[in-house]
Amino acid sequence: MILEKERELIVEYGQKLITHGLTKGTGGNISIFNKAEGLMAISPSGLDYFKTTPKDVVVLDLDGNKIDGDRNPSSEYSMHRIFYQKRDEVGAVLHAHSIYCSILAALHWKIEPVHYLIGYAGKDVRCAPYKLFGSEELSQVAFEYMQDRYAVLLANHGLLAIGETIQYAFDTAEEIEFVAQIYYKAKCVGDPILLSSDEMDEFLRKFKPYGKKQV
Ligand code: 13P
Ligand code: ZN
Repeated sequence: MILEKERELIVEYGQKLITHGLTKGTGGNISIFNKAEGLMAISPSGLDYFKTTPKDVVVLDLDGNKIDGDRNPSSEYSMHRIFYQKRDEVGAVLHAHSIYCSILAALHWKIEPVHYLIGYAGKDVRCAPYKLFGSEELSQVAFEYMQDRYAVLLANHGLLAIGETIQYAFDTAEEIEFVAQIYYKAKCVGDPILLSSDEMDEFLRKFKPYGKKQV
């Protein structure tokens, strides 16, 4: 089976999306890019994460041609592919409908630096304007609003995270959901004090080597 390792990881991390409370039902999708082969493995569309086997994971080339797999690829494959086409460092893309990110995305708010762990994504997390799920337009705005960041909110939809590895993309999604929850709850009771740009720079300098150990 081609891209066997990547397909196994997609099954594993798909289940983690559910067990870590980051998505509901068949919401969200995951892909991993194999640079050497120029191929991506992506979760099948609309299939229960606990019923998905490595064989159900679909392998596509970057023109969108199906190379292997009986299922339909995720409806969001162009929102995954655009990062492999245009950002060299990206090796995995993860989309989730996590609750607090989806609440802020319903408000079209960005997430501000209320907690240093926002640094997984960058200095803040922008919110890309609403576009229909699975559309080329959604992939364009997701890419644009992700500039210099590793996560972006999708208005009236959810969260998108990227990373060199699936572990980094997953950790980013989980930490950004945590920061979204802190931001939402702090806003409910007052005006949160934000970290300054200098404080975020200082954090990011220290975090870079730390983050590398994780992947
Ligand atoms: P797929 O099941 O086609 O991946 O779609 C889920 C989703 O979250 C669409 O945005
Ligand atoms: Zn979605």
